[in-house]
Amino acid sequence: MSVQTMCNVDPHDAAGLSEQIAACAAVGCDIIRLTVPDVEAAKVFGEVRKASPIPMVADIHFDYRCALAAIEAGADALRLNPGNIGPRENVRAVARAAKEKKVPIRIGVNAGSLERDLAAEVAAGERRAPLLVKSAMRHLKLLEDEGFYDVVISAKASNVAETIEVYRMLAETTDCPLHLGVTEAGTFLPGTVRNSVALGILLSEGIGDTVRVSLTARPEKEVRVGMEILRSLSLREPGPAITSCPTCGRTKVDLMHTASQIEIALETLAKDGIKLPHVAVMGCAVNGPGEAKGADIALCGGDGEFILYVKGESVGKVSERDAVGKVVEYALSLR
Ligand code: SF4
Repeated sequence: MSVQTMCNVDPHDAAGLSEQIAACAAVGCDIIRLTVPDVEAAKVFGEVRKASPIPMVADIHFDYRCALAAIEAGADALRLNPGNIGPRENVRAVARAAKEKKVPIRIGVNAGSLERDLAAEVAAGERRAPLLVKSAMRHLKLLEDEGFYDVVISAKASNVAETIEVYRMLAETTDCPLHLGVTEAGTFLPGTVRNSVALGILLSEGIGDTVRVSLTARPEKEVRVGMEILRSLSLREPGPAITSCPTCGRTKVDLMHTASQIEIALETLAKDGIKLPHVAVMGCAVNGPGEAKGADIALCGGDGEFILYVKGESVGKVSERDAVGKVVEYALSLR
């Protein structure tokens, strides 16, 4: 199960793209998509691909020459709707080139850009989910008619219920791998919730092969949310495992700050390939010692300080200022 995101810097800015790809890969991104709006961008794509630590998908709309240029430049996959690239010979040219280089094509149907006749049906009151599936199947047929079968399908809506409906229908309609996503899901908090609900339900039903969490936020954030969705369903190796309490009137330490600093520190250790401990960060002695028993390292808040536990045993007090450093120190000693 792979997590994807999409670069949002200028597709002609090789340095900016490389930097963003590295940042996304560092937080666990498996595949990254770049828009290729013109042939010049395809050249930049090829340049960036040479140093990219992860596979790169070229996102193509309308101009089949961009698809051909992206394949030539070393694209690992295309995202392209064959119904949008002009006459049949254009589709044939792209299908042939993709087949030759073993480049898969993702058909990406979107509720906001349905074909005119299908959009008219929606406007006339027809349910949109079956029409999204119909659109995807039309695009698929265009590729299959050219003998091209290495296809992934996505059909995204911005509405959670509609997303679930359309992917359930797709799973019954086709054997193609499915790329899941809620499109235009919004800013970080509402977008995270919408994606988590839709993708969580579908993935728990065994539907979906890759995911992209679409957020109005930096791509690294999309990756982190995607990773957490997969981890919550045990579809991905556990990452920094932190148990922390919600805080309450008893809390006399800055627990939110400490917990978030520990999360960042553990992610840095994970990037260095260090096996991570389970860390509990608790606000007081009500539940702290109990959680400490089940954790490798635990901080239990007192008045401006913590009691530090290692493997369930108290090893003494630590000030708020030194708490994160001590957790890292023990994390390194336990690996
Ligand atoms: S562990 Fe303590 S501080 Fe945290 S929520 Fe429970 S009672 Fe409050």
